[in-house]
Amino acid sequence: MSRVFNFGAGPAGLPVEVLEEARDQLLDFQGSGMSIMESSHRGKEYDAVHQEAIANLKSLLQLDADHEVLFLQGGASMQFGMLPLNLLGVGQTADYIHTGSWAGKAIKEAKLIGKVHLAADVSKARPARIPKVGELALTPGAAYVHLTSNETIDGTEWWEFPRTESPLVADMSSDILSRPFDANRFGLIYAGAQKNLGPSGLCLVVIRKDLAARSPATLSSMLRYATHLEENSLYNTPPTFGIYILMLVTRWIKAMGLENLHLRNREKAAKLYAAIDGSGGFYRGTAAPECRSNMNVTFRLPSEALEEQFVKEASKHSMKGLKGHRSVGGIRASIYNAFPAAGVDALVSFMREFQSKNG
Ligand SMILES: *Cc1c(COP(=O)(O)O)cnc(C)c1O
Repeated sequence: MSRVFNFGAGPAGLPVEVLEEARDQLLDFQGSGMSIMESSHRGKEYDAVHQEAIANLKSLLQLDADHEVLFLQGGASMQFGMLPLNLLGVGQTADYIHTGSWAGKAIKEAKLIGKVHLAADVSKARPARIPKVGELALTPGAAYVHLTSNETIDGTEWWEFPRTESPLVADMSSDILSRPFDANRFGLIYAGAQKNLGPSGLCLVVIRKDLAARSPATLSSMLRYATHLEENSLYNTPPTFGIYILMLVTRWIKAMGLENLHLRNREKAAKLYAAIDGSGGFYRGTAAPECRSNMNVTFRLPSEALEEQFVKEASKHSMKGLKGHRSVGGIRASIYNAFPAAGVDALVSFMREFQSKNG
């Protein structure tokens, strides 16, 4: 078996232990004689998986009784529309904080549905950054305030979340469960699973239950948060295999401890940023140091030709997926929860070698 170091931004690598367990159970799940993929979503085998996945998330996020976990489909991108469809009533305004590519997509969708106010716009800032709390121009009585906790393409991350009177909503697709935080302060959190939680096809939503009552009566059932809340995410057939993998991943995080995982994530990122900062300007970080992401480390080389060569040679050394997003170029090393520390060490030594040859 030869596994590469997968620096891809998503779908991202999963913990090897999780893949091995899924493999071992693939044909015969716990003696049931069938795969969990083939089991009824109303049967007792799947039901135990579903309940454990929810319980693990509630425990890792330390959710209070006012919050509930939902498993939806359509990715985080579906939430860009579903959120305003449910929570942005006629005549209301939603505040959005524009921090880059993903916030921009959320804003575009919300504008199709209702009135949007940009509480801050740092999307063009170079180096890329996150606004300071004092920069936010919030609307009194806003339906909600939306932020993107980690800008996967721009390489920035919120280190401290603002306190808002209106419900705070966050797209946490690329840094959910990478660190402890107070989830109960949020009205709604959504996260596509394929970066830190499991495979694509599944989207986690954490909702403060009272907000589900706001949906307009004409909204179709599948698009209403209340439907999924009332039916415990079993209104229709949920993405059962994805939820099974998420359950194994959350088990893995619980065994390690979220605080330990956070320390490990910080160490991995710090090593890469140190390599960038210590390169005498050969490698240049694209995010402001006080907002650097621990999940997506973005940097440039002196020329695009060198960047291309860097990606190509790294690939020959089993380091895959280092090309920056096509909209911004450069290099991006995505080092989510499951990414091994050994892969970071390999990249750091490759960076030194590449610079000594080409610098
Ligand atoms: C990847 C990503 C998305 C898109 O997720 P899909 O599941 O592909 O819709 C949205 N927001 C952020 C921050 C992301 O990193």
